Amino acid sequence: MSSPVLFTESELDQLDPRQYIIIKRARVNNLKDLSVAIPRNKLVVITGLSGSGKSSLAFDTLFAEGQRMYVESLSSYARQFLGRMEKPDVDYIRGVSPAIAIEQKVNTRNPRSTVGTTTEIYDYLKLLFARIGKTYSPVSGEEVKRNTVTEVVEFINRQTTGTRVMVAAPLTLQKGRSLADELNILLSKGFARVLVQGEVKFIEEMLATLGQAAPKKKKGATASQKPEVEILIDRATVNAQDEDLTFRLADSVQTAFFEGHGDCVIYVEQQPKRHFSDRFERDGILFTEPSVNFFSFNNPYGACQTCEGFGRILGIDEDLVIPDKSLSLYEGAVAPWRGDVMSEWAKPWIKQGVKFDFPIHRPYSELTARQRELLWNGNDSLDGLHNFFRYLESKTHKIQYRVMLSRYRGRTTCPDCRGTRLRKDAAYVKVAGQSITDLVLLPIEEVLQFFDSVNLPAHDRKVAERLTTEIKFRLKYLVKVGLGYLTLNRLTNTLSGGEFQRIKLATSLGSALVGSMYILDEPSIGLHPKDTARMVEVLLSLRDLGNTVIVVEHEEEIMRAADQIIDIGPDAGSHGGRLMFQGSLARMNGVQTHTTDYLTGRDRISVPARRRKWKDAVVVHGARENNLKNLEVKFPLGVLTVVTGISGSG
Ligand SMILES: [Zn+2]
Repeated sequence: MSSPVLFTESELDQLDPRQYIIIKRARVNNLKDLSVAIPRNKLVVITGLSGSGKSSLAFDTLFAEGQRMYVESLSSYARQFLGRMEKPDVDYIRGVSPAIAIEQKVNTRNPRSTVGTTTEIYDYLKLLFARIGKTYSPVSGEEVKRNTVTEVVEFINRQTTGTRVMVAAPLTLQKGRSLADELNILLSKGFARVLVQGEVKFIEEMLATLGQAAPKKKKGATASQKPEVEILIDRATVNAQDEDLTFRLADSVQTAFFEGHGDCVIYVEQQPKRHFSDRFERDGILFTEPSVNFFSFNNPYGACQTCEGFGRILGIDEDLVIPDKSLSLYEGAVAPWRGDVMSEWAKPWIKQGVKFDFPIHRPYSELTARQRELLWNGNDSLDGLHNFFRYLESKTHKIQYRVMLSRYRGRTTCPDCRGTRLRKDAAYVKVAGQSITDLVLLPIEEVLQFFDSVNLPAHDRKVAERLTTEIKFRLKYLVKVGLGYLTLNRLTNTLSGGEFQRIKLATSLGSALVGSMYILDEPSIGLHPKDTARMVEVLLSLRDLGNTVIVVEHEEEIMRAADQIIDIGPDAGSHGGRLMFQGSLARMNGVQTHTTDYLTGRDRISVPARRRKWKDAVVVHGARENNLKNLEVKFPLGVLTVVTGISGSG
């Protein structure tokens, strides 16, 4: 029989703290003068019965000391804010590294934090969209672009050498000023000429004629249209080779944009005049140029106006309007249209639905997205649900309508930001056809596919390379820890403890800290065996980055993957707290503890030969919650039933 421990107490004193984390005589909680040396840069599993003292060793001794040493290393000024930390009850601990505990507690300090913000992926997405995102007008779908001075000068230089060109800017009368006022201001700025309907005129001459015309105008004699006046900024003969001229033109175009409040007009001999704008505008809409804050929902500038950055508003709740989605419209799927009076709203649908390809006998849950949209929005002949509720809203002076309306109101996803809390126009900005709101609403594994297959133009790729690398790196780890089914928009305070821990783990991997001591609390919890193998890979890569990974765990597969197993026992509470075994799995055969009994197959949970019979059951009919696809399930009563499936399967 091999020795259950690796080192005697006196041997511990001789070990090198650069190779081992050495704990001598720990007495924290139920630990019984426990001494152990944990090898650095290895994956070590601490196991044992519940209550045997695993957590006392991992968290209350090791992690507590790691934290205490960190605080001790700070200035006395900083320390007074953190308070003194008690040294764990132990003779000594040597070789402790900065400790990072990844526990199963969901950190709910910030109710707005999402999977995207917690993993920092959202920060990189914001940068990515601010840097290479292109804005598209929702009206025409065309890209919104401003003209730059360089573009205008290049346009001029593309004309045949010797062509005569003019640089001009439209003159708009500012409030309270007459044309004469504006012309006088131009004179004082040093401009001498204007263009009236495209004809060059001296400003002084114009002022003279205006002076004569003015009294007539008062009598109402000249009611003709105001002539189009432009400020003539520069005239030139095209010569692309002439550098000085090119500089001068750039200067003039700049002046034109300034005087024209964003507009510049170029006259080219024998051609219609060309209009340029340096405003970020398209289809008559002035757009906001994307910046990082534009995509920050925690910032008033980036937050959705409609829901004030909460992602949900008080609106008509689809689940209340159509409480039983297995019904068809004909069978009364729309709850508010069931009554005698309100059924009038359903009649046109039943009569004419077929004309618009609306299947009145098909259950609501089986309608296509287009058919549902028709039911809500209606068309020229049919009033949809939105119109119906608008009608109720117009009648709220009558109590019965008010009551009816209140019955269908609830917290619903904000229609403007689709629950992403972002200002509506943030969705106009796209990278390779996807907006940031599209991406945060996709499952993480699909976001990863998008970034793996995206083909950016060469310039954008260069600008975004570092960002997309960071994003993909983090997405990959999230998929690896089995969280590919989550969306980046998911609120962290709605995650399970296990999901939250795995997010923390993926984030630690993504930020690649080295030389640290990671302490994890049962990372296998909530994982399907299929996902456990991937979790093992993740733990090993954390180790291979140069970290010591200490895992409190019962899961066999993780124990088998460990470099060393530390078994605390023999039993729980006051009967625990002793080191029962330390070493590799291979060494475990000769040792007897509860853990080794199971791992080596000496002990097992017996499978009953006879299973209990059942006859009654709780029946779930047509379950469609979250991702469930119309399930029919029976839960037998009076017996033990296990619900299983991979993480996120439902
Ligand atoms: Zn919103």
